[in-house]
Amino acid sequence: MGPGGEDVAGRLAEAGLRVAAVESNLVGGECPYWGCIPSKIMIHEAETSREWPALVRRVREATDSWDDKVAADRFTGKGGHLVRGHGRVTGPGEVTVGDQVLRAARGIVIATGSQAAVPPIEGLAGTPYWTNHEAIENAELPESIIVLGGGAIGVELAQMFRAFGVAVTVVEAADRLIALEEPEAGALLEKVFTGRGIDVRTSAKVARVDYADGRFSLAGAEAERLLVATGRRVDLKALGVGAIGLDESARAIPVDARMRAAEGVWAIGDAVGKGAFTHMSMYQANIVVKEILGEPVHEAEYHAVPRVTFTDPEVGAVGPTEAQARERGLDVRIAVGDLGTRGYIAQAEGLVKLVAADGVLVGATVAAPPGGEVLGLLTLAVHARVPLTRLDEMIYAYPTFHRAVSAAVKELTAAG
Ligand SMILES: Cc1cc2nc3c(=O)[nH]c(=O)nc-3n(C[C@H](O)[C@H](O)[C@H](O)COP(=O)(O)OP(=O)(O)OC[C@H]3O[C@@H](n4cnc5c(N)ncnc54)[C@H](O)[C@@H]3O)c2cc1C
Repeated sequence: MGPGGEDVAGRLAEAGLRVAAVESNLVGGECPYWGCIPSKIMIHEAETSREWPALVRRVREATDSWDDKVAADRFTGKGGHLVRGHGRVTGPGEVTVGDQVLRAARGIVIATGSQAAVPPIEGLAGTPYWTNHEAIENAELPESIIVLGGGAIGVELAQMFRAFGVAVTVVEAADRLIALEEPEAGALLEKVFTGRGIDVRTSAKVARVDYADGRFSLAGAEAERLLVATGRRVDLKALGVGAIGLDESARAIPVDARMRAAEGVWAIGDAVGKGAFTHMSMYQANIVVKEILGEPVHEAEYHAVPRVTFTDPEVGAVGPTEAQARERGLDVRIAVGDLGTRGYIAQAEGLVKLVAADGVLVGATVAAPPGGEVLGLLTLAVHARVPLTRLDEMIYAYPTFHRAVSAAVKELTAAG
């Protein structure tokens, strides 16, 4: 019952189907309690009030102190049947929760999400390290923290802690921060982080973690707290999907364009590995709802997946990076520009990078204070495959951050 499961279950129940929803933790899943919402509240408070008690209060308000009564009542109010406990798929159309066996005439929707992946580093197990759960639930501001992992979750929380005066070290194995995104964006973040006093250690190989006298040390750094933010994992073994012929050792559940994993089985969200974002889970949920209700359904497309890293500046990206587009054998052209007049006025650091092929944008990255908002324009262009020439003919308001896109488009069209 994360964002995807809650949407599917609620809408199907509203449509009159008999729906049993199984949840082992909180109805709502990772996003409202330990993910998107509280982390963005923390980032917002870091940028505005800068008062730690205000942040703690707001996070508790937003999560109802990690109580899901409102969400659970919303679902049962729609006629759904909520079963608390860990569900295992025990056969076609069958899910077992404790000693209760649920049988579905229509099918099963798997929306079990993902969990923090903790690497098997010597000395780490058994120490009081944090994952995103503890980092978000914790009410005490640490004096120092090492963030292991410079991906989206790691950099967001690192910058947030730094804004409250915490001594922050980010330790990342790759040669740059947010390594899944364009190298220019990673380099920019590293510069901004370093400028704010965050100790960034890239290309760091962590062989072991030591914990003694309430302090962690690894990769030459030492701190009171350690936040492990090294990615997410999908545990298919715990779900027992072998009972319906799926490979339990796979990294994610393979699905077709209508989210079908097997006869009478659909899967959505983080569990299918097409992008661990709430908007992805909701997008796929919509397909499954329509499919089950027999409504016309569009097949899932993934050429324009947007994602935002909510640092300052925000890094928004859509579609493949330049390197990914080249790996696909596309005849790629790129343009990289700064934030133009608005960037100058705001004294904001940032960049726009466009990746084009065959006369259309296939990917784009924007790092800007409102990078996630500027991304809307770029997502539309990539999604609808708007010709570059049409993008060049468009009028871009002056002086906005999104106007920086216009200069980069011009560079691409001028290049032929
Ligand atoms: C710190 C952080 C920040 C994030 N920020 C953003 C953001 O800004 N924007 C964004 O789009 N995404 C963000 N995400 C990702 C987003 O939270 C996830 O992509 C989203 O929650 C996935 O939704 P889901 O539907 O796959 O299920 P999940 O939210 O993962 O929920 C799955 C649910 O299934 C339950 N469950 C699992 N197995 C079982 C079982 N066997 N039996 C019963 N119940 C089970 C779990 O308890 C959980 O409640 C963030 C994640 C983190 C960790």
